[in-house]
Amino acid sequence: MQSFIPKAQRLTFAVMNSNKYETVIGLEIHAQLLTNTKLFCGDSIAFGAEPNTHVSPITLGHPGTLPKTNTKAIEYAIKLGLTCNCSIEQKNYFARKNYFYPDLPKGYQISQHTTPICKGGFVTIQTNDQEKNIQLNRIHIEEDAGKSIHDIYETDTCIDLNRAGTPLLEIVTEPCIQSSEEAFNYVTEVRKLVRWLNVCDGNMEEGSLRCDVNVSIRLKGETQLGTKVEVKNVNSIRNVKRAIDAEVKRMIEMKEKGQKIIQQTRTYNVDTDTTSAIREKEDANDYRYFADPDLTPFNLSTAYIEEIKSNLPILPKQLIADLKSKFGLSDYDTTQLCDDKMIADFFITTTQYTNNHKAIANFILGPIKQYLNENNIAVNEMQLQPKQLASLIILVDEGKVNFSIASTKILPVLFKDDKVALEIAQEQNLLQTNNSNEIEEWVNKVLQSMPDKVAEYKKGKKGLIGLFVGEVKKVSQGKADPKIVTELLASKLS
Ligand code: ADP
Ligand code: MG
Repeated sequence: MQSFIPKAQRLTFAVMNSNKYETVIGLEIHAQLLTNTKLFCGDSIAFGAEPNTHVSPITLGHPGTLPKTNTKAIEYAIKLGLTCNCSIEQKNYFARKNYFYPDLPKGYQISQHTTPICKGGFVTIQTNDQEKNIQLNRIHIEEDAGKSIHDIYETDTCIDLNRAGTPLLEIVTEPCIQSSEEAFNYVTEVRKLVRWLNVCDGNMEEGSLRCDVNVSIRLKGETQLGTKVEVKNVNSIRNVKRAIDAEVKRMIEMKEKGQKIIQQTRTYNVDTDTTSAIREKEDANDYRYFADPDLTPFNLSTAYIEEIKSNLPILPKQLIADLKSKFGLSDYDTTQLCDDKMIADFFITTTQYTNNHKAIANFILGPIKQYLNENNIAVNEMQLQPKQLASLIILVDEGKVNFSIASTKILPVLFKDDKVALEIAQEQNLLQTNNSNEIEEWVNKVLQSMPDKVAEYKKGKKGLIGLFVGEVKKVSQGKADPKIVTELLASKLS
């Protein structure tokens, strides 16, 4: 917006414009599959290896080599397709998509063309307390290209072909997403689903989940789609939202100035919060697709698809409902627990050892999640086991330690040790005591240190009892049984 427009006027201008136009978004997500090896050969796909070490002659596209399809990739595609309510194509073939690129040694990318393995379907997202189905166009299997690295040498580009041939799923929506918030929720949901199914690790920083954002605007009520711009390779979910907001803002400003929006591929710059053009896009690239003659078409039997279907894990929505009815947990707790399948599994396993389900949820969603975030690890990378967590909850429930001792003193040790909570409490002398002599000493100490408050209490300010109990808790470092403390205080002050 031009800065010479006074601020008040600028505001009305912005409001008027955002009411006048509507946003249309379609997303293409590339998800790298968690197979051990590449789509058409045995090279490893592990992230972070020395450049050009996972490069067999097949990856390098040497003449005379023959690709062979990794059936795990097909299984993973079907898993995701069934989960997203797609119809599964039974007669499939791989096609060559021909184009030249320095990190594509074969001169073509193997992809699917007229028969994407999954068609249609939808992903349900939550928007302002409402559910919305984001319609999918297709999910297809393709191989990734290598990486061109431009920032090592000033004038030269390095090429790392480790990634070439890595199996990807491309998940393509219809142009039916109506806001950056919906896009944010959709990508969050897709990441959750691929992780849930264990088909992709969803790690956007390492590029195993990448998102291309297609954006257009049109006047409200118009039925034709506007000219779209594709913002490539947005590398975090937050940036998906920010890139859309920046692009929509740019488009509205152009329209308002009477300028024409041109079909382009753009990139989002985090530092300036703006998008900039990479290239103009011709309408239809001619990739000269044809069926790859080195790969036989593959047919999927109904029995095979049914077998995959029957082995699908319980899905988040169903699990949320189950946890609610079985354990009586709230919407909030169950939704949070089911954000991540491993967390939900950890919860369920812990219920085998204690019936205090609410306490399990509280520990997991509070201090445990915090620990995972701070250390940037997943549940299966943490040393704490369900049985140990249960031992801690039981200790609190038996009145042997209070919650704050449990979470601040014992849990941190449990994260690093395979002992049970009681052993740690004993070793560190943290068990609550009901030894009245010991408690009496703490009580006396507190009362002596607060003569003014004691006088006030005696004059009738009975509410001060809570203060005294709290102080005893402090000096005893949580070890004094609060019931005995309260009794002792009452008798001493009367
Ligand atoms: P292309 O051939 O350019 O890749 P596609 O038709 O395959 O285009 O669509 C790619 C993505 O762009 C899809 O997610 C689709 O929903 C979305 N899309 C297509 N047209 C528009 C539009 N006018 N505005 C927003 N998104 C669009
Ligand atoms: Mg496309």
